[in-house]
Amino acid sequence: MFKALLLQKADDGSTQASIATLDEAQLPAGEVEIEIAYSTLNYKDALAITGRGPVVRQWPMVPGIDLVGTVVRSDNSEFPNGTDVIVNGHGMGELHWGGLAQKARVPAGWLTRKPDAMSAWDAASIGTAGYTAMLSVMALERHGVRADQGPVLVTGANGGVGSFAVALLARRGYEVHASTGRVEERDRLLGLGATEVVDRATLSESGKPLQKEKWAGAVDCVGSHTLANICAQTRYGGVVTACGLAQGMDFPATVAPFILRGVTLAGVDSVYAPQALREEAWKRLAEETDASVREQIAYTASLEDCIELAHQLIRGEVKGRVVIDLRK
Ligand code: NDP
Repeated sequence: MFKALLLQKADDGSTQASIATLDEAQLPAGEVEIEIAYSTLNYKDALAITGRGPVVRQWPMVPGIDLVGTVVRSDNSEFPNGTDVIVNGHGMGELHWGGLAQKARVPAGWLTRKPDAMSAWDAASIGTAGYTAMLSVMALERHGVRADQGPVLVTGANGGVGSFAVALLARRGYEVHASTGRVEERDRLLGLGATEVVDRATLSESGKPLQKEKWAGAVDCVGSHTLANICAQTRYGGVVTACGLAQGMDFPATVAPFILRGVTLAGVDSVYAPQALREEAWKRLAEETDASVREQIAYTASLEDCIELAHQLIRGEVKGRVVIDLRK
């Protein structure tokens, strides 16, 4: 038997979240069974747990897009018993039972070996958010954004992806401007490596198709008018990555920045990213995040805390990352 956060759909269509004790026999099919040490609480998990977004596509569901744990039963020779692994995305918590439980069963193709340089907690503190931030940084680099070209903006900077993006970019020598609705967290953002803090209200309303050129690059976590304004403010030839929708899923923009300034909009998806890209991202995360940054960004909570924390996260009250300890 194992403990899990279980989501069920009520007759009125609402989501009911509870802590349940489940039997291993209820786990979905998969070549590898994992004893989970840590999961995390991401924006997508919070949407699923609170029922605020159409994340869950099969009921009942165990949410949790991240897990870090140890293989305890395996039909795959590449990942024998005792291998420490990470799983991010692949539809966990949406179509397949996810990481907010003490056990999971998944296809072997979803596993990434945990880098030796990291503890299980380290890997969880990074989780999908840090891995998505790294995919965003890699996309900026792939499209040629260099540290000497000018400031790079990060939006949703006090969130999980944003906090890691600020730290990763600063460590690589970029001048990072951090956009946030919580300007009172200025010192936290400067501590992560930002040089300027931007009030997100200056970006969140409808703006002109082309605006004063400011950014050599940007990592956007929020979408909607903010993403449109960032594109309109990006310098000639600059690059904007888009991974999130915390402000909204819409993109009320014009083509002007793309056809008149050669701006590139690069999409970032962590869920179905190819394995080679995942491995490169995790290798770099092991090299480029240090303990002080991880401890500054993440804190630990229990499975029992998850439901309340999910509501707080949707209200924008959670800073950085929440690691969920599943060992007891
Ligand atoms: P968090 O909830 O940790 O952070 C989101 C941040 O967005 C908040 O902390 C807040 O930052 C900002 N924000 C919230 N509401 C608004 C608003 N109305 N307008 C502008 N900014 C807002 O989430 P994550 O960092 O985990 O994820 C960020 C986004 O990226 C989410 O939309 C998530 O779904 C998406 N995502 C996508 C992935 C992919 O594969 N494409 C993978 C991971 C995440 P502040 O307080 O600093 O303003």
